[in-house]
Amino acid sequence: MDFIIFGMKGTSMKTIGLLGGMTWESTLEYYRIINEEVKARLGGFHSAKCLLYSVDFAQIERLQRLDAWAELTGLMVDAASTLKQAGADFLVICTNTLHRTAAAIEEQSGLPVLHIARATGDAIVRQGLRKVGLLGTKYTMQGGFLQGILADEYGVEVLLPTETEMETVHRVIFDELCHGVIRTESKAKYVRIIGELAGRGAQGVILGCTEIPLLIKPEDVGIPVFNTTYLHAAAAVDAALAD
Ligand code: GLU
Repeated sequence: MDFIIFGMKGTSMKTIGLLGGMTWESTLEYYRIINEEVKARLGGFHSAKCLLYSVDFAQIERLQRLDAWAELTGLMVDAASTLKQAGADFLVICTNTLHRTAAAIEEQSGLPVLHIARATGDAIVRQGLRKVGLLGTKYTMQGGFLQGILADEYGVEVLLPTETEMETVHRVIFDELCHGVIRTESKAKYVRIIGELAGRGAQGVILGCTEIPLLIKPEDVGIPVFNTTYLHAAAAVDAALAD
């Protein structure tokens, strides 16, 4: 009996909407990882179907510093709506910090958000861990929006660095990593802070800022690292290829 095969592997791939530029240094990583993952899974000449809306980070950084979250939400909703109109099936907000407004973005744009905390929570639970440290911007570390999902949906407890350590982590992100600057002294500071968290019982550490994986690699520290950039990008590919 003859079989006719209609369509080809991968033709039902969804279009990923990337809301990036926060910063472009880490958005490049998203784009690379997403395409590498699609190629690894589908082979041949396959690559990701995606749309990128890349913001001017100067505007975002200023509004974050001014605590102008309503205005930031408006900008994010406009960008997400543009991606929806252009044909995106779901949204990937390429930064941890702006997930503070994720619920409003999803509700007001009508585009489903693939949340970075869920991509991270899935990975933590897969490794059987229950208590992890969190490094990120002070908006992320003090905002509670990642911690809430991790605690409520995954039963994962999050440990934060001390106030002084949080200042250091935040300063390195904005003075160095967001400008593409990678310093050995800063890596040493992060490694020490992660060591302190491990000493307080952290079984792993969330690199909860999408630029931190440019500085800290798994081999630099003695506990598992959860690279939110990689985990979020890989989850986007899972979602794009799901039926
Ligand atoms: N990309 C960073 C994050 O993941 C920080 C940049 C920003 O403030 O948006 O939080």
